[in-house]
Amino acid sequence: MRLRLPPPPSVPAAAAYAIAVAAPLLALAASLPLRPHVYNVPFALFFLAASIVGYVAGTGPGLVTVAMSAVLGTYWLVPPYGALTFSNAEILAAGLYVPVATVLALLAASLREGYARRAASEAWFRTLADASPQLVFTALPSGAGEYCNRTYSDYTGHGPEQLRSGGWLASIHPDDVPRFHAAWTDASSEGCTTQLRIRRHDGTYRWFLAALVPLRDAQGGVVRWYASCTEIQAQKESEEAKALAIEARDAFLSVAGHELRTPLTAALLQIQGAQRLVHDVEDGEAVARRLGKVAASIERLGSLVDVLLDVSRLGMGKLAIERRSYDLSAVVETVVDRFAEEARRAGVALRVDVEAGVHGDGDPLRVEQVVANLVSNAIKYGRSQPVDVSLRRAGGRARLTIADRGIGIAPGDLGRIFDRFERGVSERHFGGLGLGLWIARQIVEASGGTIAVSSRGPGEGSLFTVELPLDARADAA
Ligand code: ADP
Repeated sequence: MRLRLPPPPSVPAAAAYAIAVAAPLLALAASLPLRPHVYNVPFALFFLAASIVGYVAGTGPGLVTVAMSAVLGTYWLVPPYGALTFSNAEILAAGLYVPVATVLALLAASLREGYARRAASEAWFRTLADASPQLVFTALPSGAGEYCNRTYSDYTGHGPEQLRSGGWLASIHPDDVPRFHAAWTDASSEGCTTQLRIRRHDGTYRWFLAALVPLRDAQGGVVRWYASCTEIQAQKESEEAKALAIEARDAFLSVAGHELRTPLTAALLQIQGAQRLVHDVEDGEAVARRLGKVAASIERLGSLVDVLLDVSRLGMGKLAIERRSYDLSAVVETVVDRFAEEARRAGVALRVDVEAGVHGDGDPLRVEQVVANLVSNAIKYGRSQPVDVSLRRAGGRARLTIADRGIGIAPGDLGRIFDRFERGVSERHFGGLGLGLWIARQIVEASGGTIAVSSRGPGEGSLFTVELPLDARADAA
């Protein structure tokens, strides 16, 4: 069993010397009644006093105690009592006592210094560990925690008690425990790094990179583990976001590829047909018809490419939006006229109710793009049912509504269809890039307006509402 001394107190110099003087006096007071019995070892209690003073107060006070007790002991405890005669007995007693007591006092003082050095190095380690932004803790191979830094306590909310009872292991995400535990219990391990989730005091888990280092004894056995954990949550999140973005990009490229391929194939077929007909000069009308279809396909291709360009401009913040007074009523009517033929082909009755002379404050070309997108969607998803387009002044703004009676939108999709690449339909049933509403929202919001959708659900039709700023001066005129 190892003898464990209580840590020496820190004593100011004056108190240390007061102790150095008081101790031999006390030892003398205690020795006087014993004088007849300890005749042969008169200095017994002074040895004890010198050792204690060396340990409690240090080298200097220890030596003062030795000197004082040599004098006091020789005077009072070595016959003839109460006199210094420098007899042989007195010289022998003092001569034996002083070197032995000096050695004892010095040994005790060096023990004290050892303690002080250890305490200083521990304080140094604690300050260093507490200043670290990493979670640092040490534990025995049994799993009992020993020490944790302040960052660890602040993060986990665990104090030394929970640490000692192995609570730190319970803070690790259950899925990560086996990996961590394997590293921990591997006695031959040279240490390792592993990623794991650690529970925060509020119950949420965050990712950390943990470095485990074993400390070994002379026989090579692990005596304790040091763990230092660096938070890598932001890195993990950005990796996940990057993976999602790559997934979305790949899915988008496949959709865009198909969309661009369709009008290209159609145009090619028409050109090949026209080439065959060209030899027959009399069939000029058929050639013209085919060329018309080629033009339509190329127009479609052009508008798809425009969408892609808009997306890249928006992504780089380069989509220019003018602000000027324009005739919004005229814009809406123009768009509806433009879609008349497409609506007729789809069997959709386009019904228009536009208040005349509504003047907006914004970019007519961009607003036209928004209206065209919503009307085109209403025709595309409208199941050949009538579509109502209306424009009114309402609450100091222009309110445009486009209502169809088509496939409708599931409640879960309402929130996401305005996001980039988001679609609520399968590409097998409806073509599209999933970008029209995203671009529309960007334009409307940049113009100081709002866009919203409502639908009672699949098969129940959809209602898109756009509110845009009015040009107050033109409107008042
Ligand atoms: P796209 O039509 O190319 O898919 P949009 O951004 O224009 O892209 O529309 C996103 C999604 O919103 C569509 O895929 C569709 O699910 C849904 N949507 C848009 N307009 C309507 C509508 N009028 N009726 C039903 N669903 C619609």
